[in-house]
Amino acid sequence: MSPLSIPVVQTDILILGAGGAGLCAALHAADSGKKIKILVAAKAIIGKGGCSRMVQGGYNVVLNPADSFEKHFVDTLKGGQFINDQELAWTLVTVAPERIKEMETKYGCFFDRNPDGTIHQKPFAGQSFDRTVHKGDLTGIEIVSRLSEQVFRREIDTLDEHRAIDLLWDKEGTRIVGALLLDMDRGEFLIAHARTTLVCTGGGPTMYKLFAPSLDKSADGIAMSYRAGAEMVDMEMVQFHPTGLIVKGSNTSGTLLEEGLRGAGAQLFNALGERFMERYAPDVKERATRDVVSRSSFMEIVAGRGTPNGGVLIDASVMGPEFVEKNFPGMVERCKDYGYDLAHERVEVSPTAHFFMGGIKIDTRCHTDLDGLYAAGEDAGGVHGANRLGGNGIADSTVYGGIAGDTTANDVVGRELAPFDEKRIEEILK
Ligand SMILES: Cc1cc2nc3c(=O)[nH]c(=O)nc-3n(C[C@H](O)[C@H](O)[C@H](O)COP(=O)(O)OP(=O)(O)OC[C@H]3O[C@@H](n4cnc5c(N)ncnc54)[C@H](O)[C@@H]3O)c2cc1C
Repeated sequence: MSPLSIPVVQTDILILGAGGAGLCAALHAADSGKKIKILVAAKAIIGKGGCSRMVQGGYNVVLNPADSFEKHFVDTLKGGQFINDQELAWTLVTVAPERIKEMETKYGCFFDRNPDGTIHQKPFAGQSFDRTVHKGDLTGIEIVSRLSEQVFRREIDTLDEHRAIDLLWDKEGTRIVGALLLDMDRGEFLIAHARTTLVCTGGGPTMYKLFAPSLDKSADGIAMSYRAGAEMVDMEMVQFHPTGLIVKGSNTSGTLLEEGLRGAGAQLFNALGERFMERYAPDVKERATRDVVSRSSFMEIVAGRGTPNGGVLIDASVMGPEFVEKNFPGMVERCKDYGYDLAHERVEVSPTAHFFMGGIKIDTRCHTDLDGLYAAGEDAGGVHGANRLGGNGIADSTVYGGIAGDTTANDVVGRELAPFDEKRIEEILK
């Protein structure tokens, strides 16, 4: 108990968030062979919240000898309009193969396979090679379920439904030493006092009218780090996904129909029945990157060629109903829940706020410019430049989550647990 009458829990590594980044960080730190205490605190229930669990399409990774790191790297830079931090993008591309293998062989994830036993990789927009690993169209559930099980198996300390409110400083104001948490179930505060603090709360552009991310995300990690003075990068870059489902009168409007549909051949039409991507991207049409397709749909809508509910129409039935039902069962089910028949009819969709490319500036080892503070996953910026390619998001969170676990496990050794500044906590509580 602190003099502020707030209970205190001490740990070596505090991990805020339990998506792909937080879970991989916890597992890497736990498997580092060092005797360290790890605490994972998440706003949602561990394994049930965040967007990693919502990943439908899949995970971009170079596995086929006919593909190459250079191709994946160039695709990532092209998608990002060349403003990506190239060191971060290269690290993403080159570490992703070892992370996917680790997820299968060490953590028990199982991805779809070809008849010869190799991992199946499907096309995604903006890619020069089909390199998206997946488990049907429910890839994130597989990844997060298996990673969470491994966290529980290692008996890593976890706190469900604990929202980080703000970061803590030491008394000298020179380093971050944990976070003030709110136990959302009891409505009580808890001080998580830590040698190192990793922020991976998953960004989350949930302040828009139509948005796709999970509701437990509200850019808390970015906001806390910004208030603490951490350097930010590319904050103006917010991604809109082109195919958010329109459900009239429902708060679930904006929920995604995955990109693999366009990758596989689904077509987009305006209210006049014109396949408008023929005009905006004649070569690749619907397989243009999501920023291009979102802008094109938006142009159609503002030009008055949108549907009455302010959207456009996606037609997956052109691929054949059986193909759609076999390859996109999750999407078919989702549409059915809202009264749409994805396999047989056109479905109304709109650009929907999806992802923050910008965030906390990190180096390739996940250090921020504040001592004791680390960031990974969607909270961190720079990897994706002006636009993230579909399939590079979950790769980013697991690649950099793992790196953050390794880095914090190293940096924590011999580092003192500096007392926290109570006056600053009083300020936060005012
Ligand atoms: C519908 C949808 C589909 C997607 N499909 C794909 C895809 O097919 N391929 C792809 O590569 N990417 C996809 N993405 C993007 C991908 O989900 C993200 O890039 C990635 O999962 C982010 O991982 P993360 O670990 O940073 O955050 P998340 O997985 O979002 O996890 C955030 C965690 O932080 C917790 N949290 C939030 N606020 C706080 C707080 N204040 N204190 C403590 N904890 C907090 C949350 O509860 C959660 O546990 C998709 C996104 C969405 C929304």
